[in-house]
Amino acid sequence: MADALPTQAVDPVTKRLGYAADQDLVLHLPLRYEDETRLTPLGEARPGETVTVEGVIVHAEVQPRPRRQLVIELREPPAAALRPSACLFARWLHFYPSLVAQLKPGVRVRLHGEVRPGLFGAEMVHPRYRLVEADTPLAQTLTPVYPSVAGLGQTAIRRAVERALRRADLTDTLPADIPRSLSLPAYAEAIELLHRPPPDVDRLALETRTHPAWRRLKFDELLAQQLSLRRHARARAALSAPALTGGETLARRLLEGLPFALTGAQARVWDEIRTDLARSQPMHRLLQGDVGSGKTLVAALACLPAVASGWQAAVMAPTELLAEQLYLKLREWLEPHGIRLVWLAAALRGRAKQAALEAIAAGEAQIAVGTHALIQEAVTFPRLALAIVDEQHRFGVEQRLRLRAKGATPHPAPLTPHLLMMSATPIPRSLAMSYYADLDVSTLDELPPGRTPVATKVIHHARRAEVIARLRDYCLAGAQAYWVCPLVEESEKLQLKAAEAAYAELTAALPDLRLGLVHGRMKAAEKTAVMEAFKAGEIHLLVATTVIEVGVDVPNAGLMVIEHAERMGLAQLHQLRGRVGRGRRESACILLYAEPLSATARQRLRIIRSHTDGFVIAREDLRLRGPGEFMGARQSGTPWLRFASPELDGDLLEAARQVAERLLDRHAAAVDRHLARWLPRGLDYLQV
Ligand code: ADP
Ligand code: MG
Repeated sequence: MADALPTQAVDPVTKRLGYAADQDLVLHLPLRYEDETRLTPLGEARPGETVTVEGVIVHAEVQPRPRRQLVIELREPPAAALRPSACLFARWLHFYPSLVAQLKPGVRVRLHGEVRPGLFGAEMVHPRYRLVEADTPLAQTLTPVYPSVAGLGQTAIRRAVERALRRADLTDTLPADIPRSLSLPAYAEAIELLHRPPPDVDRLALETRTHPAWRRLKFDELLAQQLSLRRHARARAALSAPALTGGETLARRLLEGLPFALTGAQARVWDEIRTDLARSQPMHRLLQGDVGSGKTLVAALACLPAVASGWQAAVMAPTELLAEQLYLKLREWLEPHGIRLVWLAAALRGRAKQAALEAIAAGEAQIAVGTHALIQEAVTFPRLALAIVDEQHRFGVEQRLRLRAKGATPHPAPLTPHLLMMSATPIPRSLAMSYYADLDVSTLDELPPGRTPVATKVIHHARRAEVIARLRDYCLAGAQAYWVCPLVEESEKLQLKAAEAAYAELTAALPDLRLGLVHGRMKAAEKTAVMEAFKAGEIHLLVATTVIEVGVDVPNAGLMVIEHAERMGLAQLHQLRGRVGRGRRESACILLYAEPLSATARQRLRIIRSHTDGFVIAREDLRLRGPGEFMGARQSGTPWLRFASPELDGDLLEAARQVAERLLDRHAAAVDRHLARWLPRGLDYLQV
């Protein structure tokens, strides 16, 4: 950036507060304020209030007991002492000799602090003090109290902020009519007010951050986010993609061959996607739908226009197990109609891998399904028209970009593939509107019929034996079940150990059941063998780590036990539970918990027990964790909103969306100015 030359020394305070440039301190906004603009007469200083008082020291003494402390007694000077009895004590438990030297009888001081009831009358403990003259002026504005870090005093921060304010360019980035039409103040005015509020300001509005000055900054921040994202969307609209039409016959045949009809939601979403694919601009769509809402079938349908017009599609999933499940399902549905699919994962070696790579490179493979292996250097797609990313939140922005970059080039004009991202973690609308403003969102808001509601029980681990007995009865009646091992976040090795221990214990406890074990460290072939056996009903009880969190689909498995459920997040619990309730059988999910149980963990268990709708759970999750963390687990490299909240500032978000479009249409210079202020150093709200 032009105004922050790399050689320019940064204020040490700036650095300690974690900012890169002194200018950033302009937006280091106070947490609260102290009022030193008026004096409270000593006789009116009430316990519990934080006030500024002034008086003359009439007595000062270092008392040795009960603890060494400096105590001074303050009285109003004779002229002001209409009530001669009014006095106040101040007490310091930690002090240097210099303080004793300063606070001598006869000296006039101004103290600021909270008044407490003391032994001999009102007192202040460790007040802020200042030696004054009879005519030393009071502060003209409220005194800001800034967020700080250990060892960094308010005075140092205040000075640094003052310096930054003097140097900063506070001219408005927006044409004046925009803030005016929203009843928002000018930028400079808002900044000035927040750092130096006049004494008569509406303090409640300041503290609740509803004051117009706060709203102006929140609006600016939301606007920056919208501008950045909408600009990406527009840049994309200028790219060309292969227009994919056709595939109707294939789609009809596929659907006729299925034992069920599309749900209304699937049909609608399929329409949205088909319309996008037929355009010659790249699709950029997020398909969100709860666990089990049938996203795989939508993905299969989405591939058909590509296949029918001689292009390729790539489908990527985050784990090998997931990718394989996806591959098997797509193959089952599509191969009978003459479509050629290949499977590609890191575990694939030697000849099989070579063959897969060749089939893709020769354009023979119409659909490639796999893990990250799909985005490795060696893979070349001559005619990639569609990239589908399942469980997109598990991938970084980088990886999604790379899959898309595999796209078509060898045409007269370079073509960008269409991108469909799928996610089972629904994003609440407010967040989608802000963080996903560059995406089109399709939502599967309906589950296929025939699902059985899953009864969720929260049970203390002391009753484990009882649970195991129930599990046995359930399986002996012809059903299947999952046992999900505790999550050990610190180490994959410990996680594996826990899984093996649980497997050994359950095998011993359930001699008349057949058990299987799957975990993340297993060889792909072993994993497949166990999963196949489970699907075929040869295994009663599948002991698993959280690798089965997503994508596994065995309708006959209707019972799930999750150990140490208190360690898991809401989204994860919901995903796990989504594995059951897929058949006709009565289904249940048992959440075993153990102490220590934090307040949040208790809340999570309560929420998961009482809700089954993924959108409701996501909303509760958002409330529990706040947007930063809620999104943080899913997206990396995204700057978070510091001031605005898409949830609480919905009206400003709406306004920011509209203003963003208007600015992009008509005020390119303002867009650049605004983004330079709010997203310096190339930060970006990009969601790919
Ligand atoms: P998810 O959205 O979690 O990826 P899946 O695509 O795995 O869900 O679908 C879950 C199950 O529902 C699968 O067994 C799938 O075959 C089945 N399914 C999908 N669509 C329908 C439908 N319209 N009617 C009945 N079952 C369906
Ligand atoms: Mg899925």
